[in-house]
Amino acid sequence: MFPAAFEYARARSVDEALALLAKHGSDARILAGGQSLIPAMRYRLARPAVLVDINPISELSYLREDKGALVVGALARDAALETSAAVKRYRIIADTSVVVADPVVRQSGTVVGSLCHNDPAGDWPVTAIAAGASVLVRGPKGDRVVSIDDFLVDSYTTAVGEGEMAIEVRFPTPPERTAGAYYKMERKVGDFATACAGVRVHLAADGSIDDAGVAIGSVGPKAMRVAEAEKLLRGAKPSKDLMRAAAEAAQKLADPVADNRGSAEFKKAMAGVLVGRALSLAFERLGVGGPK
Ligand SMILES: Cc1cc2nc3c(=O)[nH]c(=O)nc-3n(C[C@H](O)[C@H](O)[C@H](O)COP(=O)(O)OP(=O)(O)OC[C@H]3O[C@@H](n4cnc5c(N)ncnc54)[C@H](O)[C@@H]3O)c2cc1C
Repeated sequence: MFPAAFEYARARSVDEALALLAKHGSDARILAGGQSLIPAMRYRLARPAVLVDINPISELSYLREDKGALVVGALARDAALETSAAVKRYRIIADTSVVVADPVVRQSGTVVGSLCHNDPAGDWPVTAIAAGASVLVRGPKGDRVVSIDDFLVDSYTTAVGEGEMAIEVRFPTPPERTAGAYYKMERKVGDFATACAGVRVHLAADGSIDDAGVAIGSVGPKAMRVAEAEKLLRGAKPSKDLMRAAAEAAQKLADPVADNRGSAEFKKAMAGVLVGRALSLAFERLGVGGPK
């Protein structure tokens, strides 16, 4: 299908984009990689009257380490993360960057666009929660930094308000003795997840876990933080029983619906399995056991 008629405006700077958003209000939508928005428009699930194309703002394409974080600008493409040497240190991000969609989609799609789209089956929201990310949002009242938990409000809904745009996402640089992992179950390469899970663990000097992030996706109305699993992990030493308990917490929290990717029971079980596997891989990366 063709999209409904719309006006198209090219923004050459962030200020120009914000002026266009202010002018057109709720009629306007930002166009980044277009990999979610254009299909939604073609299916008439989205009917913006005005598209504000931010692609000419090349200064938003940055991907850099700055002030204790990996900072990903609004126009950094998924493909840039996939090939970045800096990203290799952020294991959960590196894992995610190679399983989002397919290589062609990753040439255009952006991490920030994916977070702004907030698809319940999206990969980046899960990783951003587990990694403890935050998003810089700019609007008529200036800048604000929003924690990822506050940013991802609900299915296809974020904290970006009318007249605002997301400028960058910041992933905290993992301290020494941190490892993460991301697992996605997909029917075939390029498909959205049947279920997915991201984890991050930091070990204290005595070998116990002093910080943890655990999230699951595609198994509920939005990507979810598994707070119960994080609670179990903090203060504990890595063990098979611990992995099992965290996996059970994830399975309990998962609330999927059946579709052509599987039954609700299957997806719920997979949420647990994937958290267990991701933890196992993270521990292996830390040299404290792993998949046996
Ligand atoms: C065939 C195919 C397979 C896919 N498979 C997967 C998959 O397996 N996993 C997955 O996670 N995704 C998948 N996707 C989605 C893809 O990753 C998208 O690129 C991504 O979700 C959106 O990024 P984008 O830059 O294309 O955003 P766009 O499509 O341009 O925008 C998406 C939404 O975010 C808003 N937006 C974008 N940037 C900003 C900003 N800076 N500030 C405020 N709002 C903004 C737009 O207005 C729009 O509402 C797939 C897409 C396709 C076409």
